[in-house]
Amino acid sequence: MMFDYDDQNIFAKILRGEIPNKTVFENDHALAFEDIQPQAPVHVLVIPKGPYVSLDHFAAAASAEEQAGFFAAVAEVCKVTGVDEGFRAIANTRGHGVQDVPHFHMHIIGGTQLGRMLPK
Ligand code: AMP
Repeated sequence: MMFDYDDQNIFAKILRGEIPNKTVFENDHALAFEDIQPQAPVHVLVIPKGPYVSLDHFAAAASAEEQAGFFAAVAEVCKVTGVDEGFRAIANTRGHGVQDVPHFHMHIIGGTQLGRMLPK
């Protein structure tokens, strides 16, 4: 699998400060911000700062420090958004997963009963 990163994607522009975002949390390796079209009361995107196109790219190629920093950001987002009753983490990937933005992002969605993961 070849992972080609396009540095003109919208999350790369957010990371460079070229377009604004509503930051929820940031550390050395990750940024978390509000989704512009929230699908639930809590809808935050967590992205690594490195150039990774997808979850499988990030899992295969990111350093241990980058992976730890990313999951530390996930933990912080879950804490500050107060999703104690549960949430859903989604990483849409490529065509079958209907991924729109080709920079790895994890959706953290919650704040309400979400129903089943996929329609039956
Ligand atoms: P995906 O289909 O998993 O690639 O999801 C991309 C997500 O990025 C969607 O939920 C969009 O609403 C969200 N999104 C697109 N542009 C922005 C932006 N400028 N700021 C915040 N979220 C965005």
